[in-house]
Amino acid sequence: MTAKRIDGKAFAAGVRAQVADHVARLKADHGLVPGLAVVLVGEDPASQVYVGAKGKQTVEVGMASFEHRLPAETSEAELLALIDRLNRDPQVHGILVQLPLPPHLNSDLVINALDPAKDVDGFHISNVGRLGTGQKSMVPCTPLGCLMMLRDHLGNLSGMNAVVVGRSNIVGKPMAQLLLGDSCTVTIAHSRTKDLAAVCRGADILVAAVGRPEMITGDFVKPGATVIDVGINRIERDGKTKLVGDVDHASAAEVAGAITPVPGGVGPMTIACLLANTLTACCRANGLPEPQ
Ligand code: NDP
Repeated sequence: MTAKRIDGKAFAAGVRAQVADHVARLKADHGLVPGLAVVLVGEDPASQVYVGAKGKQTVEVGMASFEHRLPAETSEAELLALIDRLNRDPQVHGILVQLPLPPHLNSDLVINALDPAKDVDGFHISNVGRLGTGQKSMVPCTPLGCLMMLRDHLGNLSGMNAVVVGRSNIVGKPMAQLLLGDSCTVTIAHSRTKDLAAVCRGADILVAAVGRPEMITGDFVKPGATVIDVGINRIERDGKTKLVGDVDHASAAEVAGAITPVPGGVGPMTIACLLANTLTACCRANGLPEPQ
């Protein structure tokens, strides 16, 4: 069997087009322009690339983009003062603080200083609690993108066995919450899980968010399962730098029913969901109906 390819790039383009359409109507009907502020501290090369891509796509959907690039030695007090200004700025509906922050800054403190209504990454403790208790929240972008692709591919997820490999606060745990919210039977696996391959083989939906290049091979996959590969790993192969996922695509695609590629799977959906969350935040802030 060769798995169907779930094309995250095309799906993300569709999401961005819907967001752009809604933004145009907000402008025309209410004179509103959703605004996203991105804060980058330091010069981490991968973060610079992400922030650049986010700014470009924000403008492309008709939103206002505010970039704040601060030097690595920025103090916590300076960063908190900027967040306070952005929290009170009516032109800013979403704020994203690019992680990781330099080690002298306390990420939890900084994230929890955001206005939860503007926390478009969904990392503020109040949004985490809201998601966990099934209340309206801001949902972390990467797991939200995965859920959208799963619903699109599988329809109703109710009753399916889902295994999420990885228990980080930014991917694994919120992914598990979202799948539980869609009535899957959810297992969260991690580095201490015994016989990981056997656990994964029980999954109708297998989400890999491990950070280990090509660790999930075909023998972890139940025949016909849907595999979502969140991993983004840069490796050297044949003298070239290559981007690979946490799933060994070639062997997994022999067994799975459908699979996301890397690149072109989860990655593009993450930024598309960030834009969708910013639009949602703008609608909520202005008492307008939220996009569906
Ligand atoms: P973390 O390093 O925070 O978490 C990795 C998780 O994987 C941990 O829970 C860890 O378990 C688990 N793990 C590590 N090794 C093993 C193993 N051998 N067997 C089973 N579980 C293991 O990573 P993130 O969640 O931040 O990211 C995961 C991946 O997703 C990375 O490749 C990252 O680059 C990618 N990513 C992609 C995004 C996108 O937009 N596509 C966005 C965010 C991340 P334990 O807790 O026990 O240590």
